[in-house]
Amino acid sequence: MTSLPPTSTLPPPTPTALPPTSTSLPPTSTLQPPITICSPLAVQPLDKLSEIITQPFKPPLVLDNGTYKEEDATHHGLDLGYYTRDKQLFTGTPVLAALDGKIAAVIHDRPPYGEMLILETPFERLPVEVIASQEIPTGDSLYTLYAHLQNTQPLEIGQSVTCGQPLAETGLTGWTGGPHLHFETRWGPAGQTFAAMAYYVADTTDEERANYEKWRMSGVFQLFDPLELFKQP
Ligand SMILES: [Zn+2]
Repeated sequence: MTSLPPTSTLPPPTPTALPPTSTSLPPTSTLQPPITICSPLAVQPLDKLSEIITQPFKPPLVLDNGTYKEEDATHHGLDLGYYTRDKQLFTGTPVLAALDGKIAAVIHDRPPYGEMLILETPFERLPVEVIASQEIPTGDSLYTLYAHLQNTQPLEIGQSVTCGQPLAETGLTGWTGGPHLHFETRWGPAGQTFAAMAYYVADTTDEERANYEKWRMSGVFQLFDPLELFKQP
């Protein structure tokens, strides 16, 4: 105790050396985690996704008026999967959110997508490289679609999810010959949701058909190759 210097010998505090006051810090609401892209498959890192493509992206023809040709046979997404001696092994692989965002659709086993999710990522949570390469207009959102799932987590439209969060597991629901993840990327107006979506079957409702056509054929959403999203800057 006696070895401590008396308090009076300490230099007086200089006001200029004080840490900045709380008013100079950014408001808490602007603090966001860094913008990231995550592999949609827990088993395969982002830079190795191109090694497990079972069917590449093949865009539809674009008509003179800017809409897509209503011939729906081209492949609007990327199929990711692999075959092992037991083809069922790929079933049940965790499917992860590729970006931060909120759920825009949860469709339970309707053709052709089967069990399916759509995630909306707002403009301010998109990597600048993706905005630049796809020329996404300010304020528009990126939508990612995950299809042929075996099951989905208990998710609801509007629910927030973070990059890498488990959303579902791979499967072979809908129109598919083998278990794989069908993954689509489109950008379009913010705040779009799809309460129902189906096509090609006799019991398709008007709402299901309208949403499918809006998503795939209307030109409201601009389709691009998911590999462009997975490119590392
Ligand atoms: Zn596919």
